[in-house]
Amino acid sequence: MFAIFGHQRAAELTYYGLHALQHRGQQGAGIVTSDSKQLSIHKGMGLVNSIFNRQQLASLKGMNAIGHVWYATEEDNSFENVQPLLFRSQKSSMALAHNGRIVNDFALRSQLEAQGSILQTTSDTEIIAHLIKRSGYLDVEEAINQALGMIKGAYAFVLLTEEQLFVALDPYGLRPLSIGKIDDAYVVASETCAFDLVGAKYLREVKPGELLVFDKNGMKTSMFTSPMQRSLCAMEYVYFSRPDSDLNGLNVHASRKLMGKQLAKEAGVEADVVTGVPDSSISAAIGYAEASGIPYELGLIKNRYIGRTFIEPNKSSREAGVKMKLSPVRGIVNGKRVVMVDDSIVRGTTSMRIVRLLKEAGATEVHVRIASPPIKYPCFYGVDTTASSDLMAAQYSVEEMAEKIGADSLAFLSVEGLEHSLVNEDSIEKGICKACFTGRYPTEIYPREDNANGEGADI
Ligand code: SF4
Repeated sequence: MFAIFGHQRAAELTYYGLHALQHRGQQGAGIVTSDSKQLSIHKGMGLVNSIFNRQQLASLKGMNAIGHVWYATEEDNSFENVQPLLFRSQKSSMALAHNGRIVNDFALRSQLEAQGSILQTTSDTEIIAHLIKRSGYLDVEEAINQALGMIKGAYAFVLLTEEQLFVALDPYGLRPLSIGKIDDAYVVASETCAFDLVGAKYLREVKPGELLVFDKNGMKTSMFTSPMQRSLCAMEYVYFSRPDSDLNGLNVHASRKLMGKQLAKEAGVEADVVTGVPDSSISAAIGYAEASGIPYELGLIKNRYIGRTFIEPNKSSREAGVKMKLSPVRGIVNGKRVVMVDDSIVRGTTSMRIVRLLKEAGATEVHVRIASPPIKYPCFYGVDTTASSDLMAAQYSVEEMAEKIGADSLAFLSVEGLEHSLVNEDSIEKGICKACFTGRYPTEIYPREDNANGEGADI
C-alpha cells in the first residue's frame, strides 16, 4: 500500500511508490486520487507498468492519493477484488485499500448480509467499507473507530475521502506500515523502500492500534484501542520485504545476513561453495558464507522477467514459474559440494526443483540450509498458507523432507536463532509473530465453521 496527502504530483508519486512495492503483489494494482471534490480511479490486472500510462495518470486529478498492489490467492483471483475499492455515494465517497486478513470475516460477512448488505467482492476490504458505511455516524472518523472495534486480525489500511486520508494499523501491528514526508506532503507505505524511490524522508512506524487522520490541518493521531504486544510478521524479514527496506528499525538485508550467520553456527556442513536462491535468500547466503568461511558464489541466476512463484495463485502456474525463472551456473557448481541457502520451504515444490537443477548441472552434493524455522502451521493473517495439508513441514520430519526434495542434507534455523537475529538493541519494538513456526497465534483465531456461525461478530 502507498498513500500521499498534499502533493501536486500525487498520482505520479503513487505510481512510483507502487513500483517499489511491486514485489508484494503482482496480480493487479490500482490508484485512487482526490481533488477535494471527487475521487478518480484507475486499476487493472497485472504489473504496475502494464496498468498505467501517462494519459491515465494525468486523468487521476488531485493532491491526495492511495494505491495498492494486489497479491491474489486462489480464492479471490478476480478483477473485482483489485484494490483500492471505491464506494460512491451522494454525500461523500470513499476508497479503501488494505493489507492483511480479517480473521472474523465470515462472521461479519454473514451478519452484514443478514442485515441487508449486498457485498460485491470476496475481499475483506469491502467488509470494512460496509461496517463504516452502516455505523450510522455522520463523522467518518467516528465511523472508522466503530468499525475498527468490530474487526479482528491483521490489517493495515488506508482510506481516502474527498478531503481526508485515514490510516490504521491493527492492535498487534502484524503488518508493516511507515510514515514519511516529502516537501510538505505526508506519505505512508508498507515498506520504506517506497520512500527512497519517491525521495521521501522516513518519519516513523505507524503504531499498533493507531489511527491517523490527514487533512487540511495536518496529521492527527489517536489510538482506537490499547496496543497489544507488537507482533510484526517474521516472514516480512524472511521473505516478503525488499532488502533495502527497514522494518521496526532493522534493515531487512542486515537481518537476513544475521539469520544466515546464525544458521551457519547451528547447521554447519563441509562444502566447497555457498549459493543463495535469488533474490530473497542472497543476503542469508552471504551471511552463511561469512560465518562458515566457505566462499559465496553465484550458483543460481534468476530470469528477471518472471514473477515470484510463492505468490502466484495456483499450483500449476507456480511449477511452471520455477522452471522458467532459475538457471544453475554450471561453471560454478559442476563437481562441487554446494550449500544451497533458501529462505523458507512452504510446499517443497520449489526446493525439489532447485536441488534437481543443481545436480543436473554437476553438483556432487547439495546441502539445503533454510534461513527460517520449518513452517508447520497455517497463517490466518493474509499470507497464502491457510491449509496445513499444503505445508511440507507439517506433514514430514526434516529427514523425510530432505529425501523428498532430493537433498544430501537439510537443516532449518531454530526459532531461538530467528529471534536472536531479529531482536537486538536496534529494534524499535521487539515483538514478532512466529505463529507459522510455533502455532502460537498472537490474536484469537476463528475456525471457519465458528466464524460462519457468527462467532466473533457483533455488529
Ligand atoms: S503466521 Fe507466519 S506468515 Fe502469518 S503473520 Fe505470523 S509470522 Fe507472518
